[in-house]
Parts: sequence; structure tokens; C-alpha cells
Amino acid sequence: MSIQSNIQSIRQHIPSHVRLVCVSKFNPNESILEAYETGERIFGESKVQELCGKYETLPQDIVWHFIGHLQTNKIRLIVPFVSLIHGVDSYKLLVEINKQAAKIGKTINCLLQVHIAQEETKFGFSPEELLYMFETGEWKQLENVRICGLMGMATFTENREQIRSEFRTLKTLFDRTKQSYFTTEATFCELSMGMSDDYQLAIEEGSTLVRVGSSIFGRRMYNP
Ligand SMILES: *Cc1c(COP(=O)(O)O)cnc(C)c1O
Repeated sequence: MSIQSNIQSIRQHIPSHVRLVCVSKFNPNESILEAYETGERIFGESKVQELCGKYETLPQDIVWHFIGHLQTNKIRLIVPFVSLIHGVDSYKLLVEINKQAAKIGKTINCLLQVHIAQEETKFGFSPEELLYMFETGEWKQLENVRICGLMGMATFTENREQIRSEFRTLKTLFDRTKQSYFTTEATFCELSMGMSDDYQLAIEEGSTLVRVGSSIFGRRMYNP
């Protein structure tokens, strides 16, 4: 299967209110350009160095999303051009992004990552931590970040019902957050959930941004 035909078949499963993030990590520029030629513009990367290299060498109208775990000392490298940071997994990181964005007079779109999986290894706020953070209200002073929604990853399992229920938990949390803290902000509207193996489930459960890598580009040489 070619990248082009992979994208065409994925598009048939994505309704118009959901956007596709082509996860191009570990894939070369030529592969990204193949996806680009089909009309895709949103690409997701999980390593800062790799993202910066690709940003410099690929077409300027690509919309870059950062989807990985971001280290505070690398924020400044992506802040000048990144469109959305999916994985903001602590309040401290949000504060740092705000600080680096303020230095260059930008406002950075962010999604807060919530830990919904049963695995220990995945990053993110617990639902309690998230609600506590919103409740304290301090975040409202961070004028150089815009919280656009939530992001999460389901457990790596064959159990579809478990995955569905984790996505549902995230959607419930999203709705609750929207109602309590962002009633008037139209920009709080993104729910990033779903990858190659579970994006259709995620869409059924309310995803607005699906992050699809291997179903587009084939299996990666090595894993993140
Ligand atoms: C790698 C990655 C993806 C894409 O995974 P696939 O299974 O290849 O579609 C999505 N989200 C995040 C956070 C990733 O690191």
C-alpha cells in the first residue's frame, strides 16, 4: 500500500468535524512530501530535534503539532513555529511554555494530557489533578498559552471495551471542563484521542483530532 492510498482509505472513516494529524515521526522527508501532495497539512512529531530539522527543510505551509513528551529546556526551540502542543502533562510545563512564548510575544495553543490508561508509563494529569488545577484558577494568569482542549492515550490492549471506556472517561472530563471553565471560549474545542489502531473508536467517542502514524506511513523502524 502506498502512503497516498493509505490516506485515501483513512479519510473515508473520518467525518468532516474531525481533523487528521499525520504522525510522521521517524519517517523521512520524502514520505512526508508524499502525504503533503495528497493535500494533508497537519503533521505530528514527538522529538524536538527531529521536528526542528523537518520544519527547516519542508514546505512552510505545513502545520506542525508536537505530540511527544516535551522537556522544559527544549520548549524555546519549537515555540517560534509550533501550531499546537498536544502533550502538556504538568502545570509546571504549562508555566514554562508560557514563559518562553512571552519572550517572543506569541501565544501557544496547548492541549492538556490526561492519564486515562491503566499503564504506569503514560504521562499526564490524573483527572483529579486536572480539575484541581482548573479550580485554583492560577492558570488564568498565563496569557501566552491558550488551552484548546484535552489529549489522552488509551491502554495498549486488545480489549476494545476498555479502550472505549477510557475514551469515554476523557470525553466526560472534557465536557465537564468546558462547562465549568470555558463556557464562553470557543477555542476550547479540541479532544485529541485515537491512533492507528483505535481512531475509529475514538471518533465514535467524541474525538476531534486523531493522531495517525503507522496506518499512513507503515511500520516505523523503531518505536518511540
Ligand atoms: C506515535 C504516536 C502516535 C501514532 O501512533 P500510531 O499507532 O503509529 O498511529 C500517536 N500519538 C502519539 C502521542 C504518539 O507518540
